[in-house]
Amino acid sequence: MTKLTRSFDLIVLGAGSGGLAAAKKAASYGASVAIIEGDLVGGTCVIRGCVPKKLLVCGSSLLETISCAPSYGFDFDNLKIKSDVLLANVRKEVQRLNELHETFLSKANVELVKGWGEFKNPNIVVTKNRKNGEITNELYGEKILIAVGGRPKKPNIQGASLGWTSDDMFLLKNFPDEITIVGAGYIACEFACILQGLGVKVTQLVRGERLLRGFDFQLSLALAEAMKSKGINLRFGENVSSIEGIIGSLIIKTSRGTEFNSNGLLFATGREPYLEGLKLEKSGVSIIDNKIKVDSESKTNISNIFAIGDVTNRINLTPVAIDEGRSFADRNYGESNRKVNYDLVPYAVFSQPEIASVGMTEEKAIQSIGKDNIKVYKSIFRPLSKSIPKKGSKCILKLIVDKNNNKVLGCHMIGDNASEIIQMASISLMLGATKFDFDNTMALHPTIAEEFVTMR
Ligand code: NDP
Repeated sequence: MTKLTRSFDLIVLGAGSGGLAAAKKAASYGASVAIIEGDLVGGTCVIRGCVPKKLLVCGSSLLETISCAPSYGFDFDNLKIKSDVLLANVRKEVQRLNELHETFLSKANVELVKGWGEFKNPNIVVTKNRKNGEITNELYGEKILIAVGGRPKKPNIQGASLGWTSDDMFLLKNFPDEITIVGAGYIACEFACILQGLGVKVTQLVRGERLLRGFDFQLSLALAEAMKSKGINLRFGENVSSIEGIIGSLIIKTSRGTEFNSNGLLFATGREPYLEGLKLEKSGVSIIDNKIKVDSESKTNISNIFAIGDVTNRINLTPVAIDEGRSFADRNYGESNRKVNYDLVPYAVFSQPEIASVGMTEEKAIQSIGKDNIKVYKSIFRPLSKSIPKKGSKCILKLIVDKNNNKVLGCHMIGDNASEIIQMASISLMLGATKFDFDNTMALHPTIAEEFVTMR
């Protein structure tokens, strides 16, 4: 039975990273807030993205570490991975985090409303039980924040429904013996390495000629080399054209006219804003290029409706969505007029080895200020941890410097702990560090990161 319409200062649609941050911050300023979620609390990052993915990376990378152990004197026999145990434990951790987030909401005085929300008009949202279509709540919001995120998309080819997306990977009981991965972006490279590390035979189909378009070219080449040397079958210039068979025994046909069998196929071919079922037409919010268009204050074309995170398709990263959520709350319920700073957003691919970057790539710097105006510093070496085992890929560290004012424009790395190192380096770039500042910083020895302050 429909409940009576209840009123709130703010209704947040979607309890992912951005929505949760906005809801809790707005409530901390005294606003009455309801957050609507049809799935577990936590969104893509916590439930089917960054967090479970990183847990799988931790598990997957163990085998490579252990493979180095004999050269340090350890003796292991019969090492075997039970992927059903790993996946079950990851799901258990996700469930724990979901409950933790529910507790945080209740402590923050935010009401969690379970169900799938849709607009009735610009101020009223109803929640529905998707199974039987029953309306479970009707809520009035002075302001409404859309933070429903994105969903993976599949190409429109014959048999596409037989392919998995990253969402499905976390729900599998076991990983297959062999898999085909389509794509060359974050998810494709991360899952190729995770699965290869867990003993799955991986073929990766890349329609272009390189991995990670938009990333530093030298690092993406180094990653391709590292992935090939681990045994990943990287096939460039080839795309899937159709899939037949049943999951477990698929026949993959490719754009090159080849055909092969695979136990499963993962589409890692991008994500898109999740607009389905919102009934945005009833709110008046306009969709442009399949995304909700917002201004620099995350306001849509309707004055009381805002949108943040992947549904706006700006920079689709968790920390960005969180900051968009907090700055929305600060501006609308607090006293700050702070806007999100989209400059120098660091990013990382949790491939094995990791890639991380902040600032301009060499290619971007050449494009912006010209080849003659930049100096590129590089250090390529085998890390100490791999010197005795004598295997594993080399680290590459790069600094892109503006010759005119000595300012560091970009800082890039492939290798162990790249994401941790670049996170710290991004503070110096935010502060406008020059190459002199890097040179004047005392090295911490023996580390990988010290190379950033000793390059001459
Ligand atoms: P990406 O946009 O990173 O990459 C998509 C890949 O799919 C590209 O290689 C693209 O090729 C390829 N592709 C697109 N369409 C087709 C097609 N029809 N056939 C074959 N290949 C195709 O998307 P992901 O799905 O990997 O990730 C989505 C987003 O999620 C990322 O952009 C990022 O914002 C976020 N993310 C962030 C992570 C992190 O921070 N570590 C981890 C995972 C996801 P081409 O290059 O030729 O266009």
